[in-house]
Amino acid sequence: MGIYALTGGATGIGAAIKTQLRALGHEVIVVDLREGDVCADLADASGRQKAIDGIRALAPAGLDGFIPCAGLGPSVRPLSLITRVNYFAAVAVTEGVLDLLVRRKGSIVMISSNSAAMTAHDEYVELLLADDETAACELIETKDAHTAYAGAKHALSCWLRRNAPDYARQGVRINAVAPGIVNTPLSDKVLADKDLGQVMRDFGDSVPLGAIGQPEQIAEVVCFLLSEKASFMAGSLVFVDGGHDAMLRPDQF
Ligand code: NAD
Repeated sequence: MGIYALTGGATGIGAAIKTQLRALGHEVIVVDLREGDVCADLADASGRQKAIDGIRALAPAGLDGFIPCAGLGPSVRPLSLITRVNYFAAVAVTEGVLDLLVRRKGSIVMISSNSAAMTAHDEYVELLLADDETAACELIETKDAHTAYAGAKHALSCWLRRNAPDYARQGVRINAVAPGIVNTPLSDKVLADKDLGQVMRDFGDSVPLGAIGQPEQIAEVVCFLLSEKASFMAGSLVFVDGGHDAMLRPDQF
């Protein structure tokens, strides 16, 4: 059986991925703030290094898969925390364990969002892709929560697409899921937010399949992308959103 690592495995989508991988008989190393095999705060460089070192210590022979799932929703303040965790931590820890994945021809699944397609490829996104954390964090404090969240997921998706061919040549498949609204502690906080709650409720009510998603429905697709069943997939962004992206952007794919 395989050995996998994921960040953000304590709750929500990450916890569902952990449960499903373990049910398949795999070993799963969890990185999270408090409840993890490796406890690290991914908001800053020292926490990211602690996560990388912890994974390396627990998987010295390499990894079959990695899922940078830790993330914060748009209700979190300061907005730069979203930038740090959702983009910079995901990229830094992925790069920090890449050689472990190369060793076992492993696979990576990133957790984007269908909101990635609902924002502009703007100056903020360019700063993220230029790896300028200081400037991106300064800029985002002058913008709104949607831009912070969706922009970080947009940049993460571009980062994935830019790197997927090179990773593939090294034998590592990297793909992403783009979930729509899913029932987790993250979305609970957004629904309870006085500014964002109503927009989120309206968004949830308009899902074409008639309900918001459950973490297990996202985890099923993540486990498929990690598995040999997806052996010819690399660089794909798979919308798992009850039809929302198709409804909102029918002619863009
Ligand atoms: P969640 O809050 O249940 O899980 C997030 C996990 O990340 C938690 O275990 C949390 O402790 C961990 N985490 C947060 N900040 C951290 C930090 N600084 N260091 C280490 N760990 C940290 O939320 P979720 O909805 O399961 O989110 C998982 C991923 O799915 C996120 O990347 C999120 O952006 C993405 N996503 C969620 C939705 C949704 O509607 N819930 C939709 C699209 C994408």
